Amino acid sequence: MEKVVSRRNIKFLLYEVFGVEDLTKYEYFEDHSQETFDMIIDTAYKLGMDFMYPVFQEMDANPPEYVDGIVKTHPIVKTTMRDFGRDGWINAPMAYEYGGQQIPQVIQNVIQFIFTASNYSLGAYVSLTRGAADLIVHHGSQEQKDLYLEKMFAGEWQGTMALTEPDAGSSLSDIKTSAEDTGEGYYKIKGQKIFISAGDTDAVDNTIHMMLGRIKGAPAGVKGISLFIVPKYRIKDNGDLEYNDVFCAGIEHKLGYKGSPICQLSMGDEGDCRGYLVGEANKGLAYMFQMMNEKRIGVGIGATGKATAAYYAALEYANQRLQGRPLNEKDPNSPQIPIIKHADVKRMLLFQRAICEGALSLALQNAKYRDLVKVGEDAEKFDLISDLMIPVVKTYPSEMGILTTSTAIQCLGGYGFCRDFPVEQYYRDIRIDTLHEGTTGVQGQDLLGRKVTMKGGKAYQLAMEEVRKTIEEAASIDELKAYAAQLKDAQQVFSDVTDYLLAIKETGDKEKFQADASVYLEMAGVLFIGWQWLLQAVVAIKALPTAIDVDKNFYQGKLMTCQYFFKYEMPKLESLGKTLKTSDGLTVAMNAALFED
Ligand SMILES: Cc1cc2nc3c(=O)[nH]c(=O)nc-3n(C[C@H](O)[C@H](O)[C@H](O)COP(=O)(O)OP(=O)(O)OC[C@H]3O[C@@H](n4cnc5c(N)ncnc54)[C@H](O)[C@@H]3O)c2cc1C
Repeated sequence: MEKVVSRRNIKFLLYEVFGVEDLTKYEYFEDHSQETFDMIIDTAYKLGMDFMYPVFQEMDANPPEYVDGIVKTHPIVKTTMRDFGRDGWINAPMAYEYGGQQIPQVIQNVIQFIFTASNYSLGAYVSLTRGAADLIVHHGSQEQKDLYLEKMFAGEWQGTMALTEPDAGSSLSDIKTSAEDTGEGYYKIKGQKIFISAGDTDAVDNTIHMMLGRIKGAPAGVKGISLFIVPKYRIKDNGDLEYNDVFCAGIEHKLGYKGSPICQLSMGDEGDCRGYLVGEANKGLAYMFQMMNEKRIGVGIGATGKATAAYYAALEYANQRLQGRPLNEKDPNSPQIPIIKHADVKRMLLFQRAICEGALSLALQNAKYRDLVKVGEDAEKFDLISDLMIPVVKTYPSEMGILTTSTAIQCLGGYGFCRDFPVEQYYRDIRIDTLHEGTTGVQGQDLLGRKVTMKGGKAYQLAMEEVRKTIEEAASIDELKAYAAQLKDAQQVFSDVTDYLLAIKETGDKEKFQADASVYLEMAGVLFIGWQWLLQAVVAIKALPTAIDVDKNFYQGKLMTCQYFFKYEMPKLESLGKTLKTSDGLTVAMNAALFED
């Protein structure tokens, strides 16, 4: 059986780096313990490896089909939804009153990491349903909760997030789907949505779309967007289901992530599509942002999962493939060596490991902050830091994962390009992550244009303080002094660049201020991942003297990978900073006509 994640690394991060067992001292999590966390993780791992992973390639080879208006998905989707619903995987993080287990987000994110590494497409049905239900939990009326949650948590009904329209992708303020109040407790919905993940599937009895629309007469822009529950089949008073005029007009044929359909939906073709307002009118985008934040974190975790699975596939191959001899070996009759002994192959593996384990660490750090917010521990502070970090948690593994999965292919040579091995699929599957839930461009603008400046820069200052604390701790450890100094310098460069950009903002030239926001986001990624590696190195260096056997290798491996990050990746930050300070509005000045011949 192939390995897709390291449970040793997961537990290192959870307990040795982040001490998440401490969360159980809070009332909300008090029924849990490290033992229950371990049990959940081990069961998720078994489910991932024994159930999800075996159909990972099969689902890619047999994507959903659109037949006579019905989307036919792989039979395992139905089994998964029902079994995962029955066993509590859909609502695990929910409160007891919703049948959940009140597990911390950090544990939920680990489950998601394992599931996405095992089979990203299959896990998507589950996480989308949880996200949609979570919106109803937070903003729905009691009647809506009673009508929808039970079936969704049972995996009988699929949940979706229906935002995108033909003319409104990144620009959600341009949503046109209309909603007309009938005065009878529902709105008549008319419009089109595209790219809706799991927007229709024969695996479930109903699909519940959490849909953004505009009530007739609402203000233009984001202030006029409302959130509706638009079921494919509405529920009649006697409990029977009745078609709600939500028609799936087709599905797209994709590069990767093929096991889950993305659907074109047409609402109200027969003039009888009913939508049920969630919360207050015109506050839909704010509500949806809650789900989008969850999904953005989920995208980062998913990218990390896929990249990690690709890394382990490359590692396994590198240990087995015999090719060439050591450069210092002159005897042509000497046996060939496994390619993992070649420095360049080790470099490729170190690159993948440094990105994957750094990104996972950042995601779990963020999840722990979210859990502290939940229990009210320094809630404002951790909420702000987490909010600032989300664009990085989403984007860093999504962008870098394209490179690491490509490097995984490289490790396998020609076989990496062939379907006999899974790495080509990871490379295709991960490509979506820079696009959905807000493109990298949108995330960059969110970080620089909104998060860095929100609350007078408080989130930014607090996040920088967290980085500083780690630098100070590492500076007191002889072996890590140099890396602490390097991160301190990097943080200074980042801070100078931030000041430089904020000065442009002060001139009122928003276009120039945010022109290179994606580059700034990339820079923030290097800084935050460097921080996470130093954090891990502090733990590893302290644990090393008493570690034996495999544990010793584990900690030494951690320290070598940390060194790799600081020697090969961290220097990029300075160059990105230089670009940001000298680009001087080049991309703004570039004229569209100049791209022509
Ligand atoms: C597989 C898949 C699954 C999806 N699942 C869902 C789903 O479940 N629900 C849902 O609602 N949507 C979903 N989407 C849609 C997805 O969220 C959008 O594709 C994404 O938001 C980008 O919108 P767009 O495709 O219209 O691209 P565009 O908005 O046209 O963007 C094209 C390019 O222009 C850039 N750009 C656009 N505007 C700006 C700007 N103002 N400043 C700078 N750059 C800009 C973008 O960054 C991008 O690089 C999915 C898409 C895919 C491919």
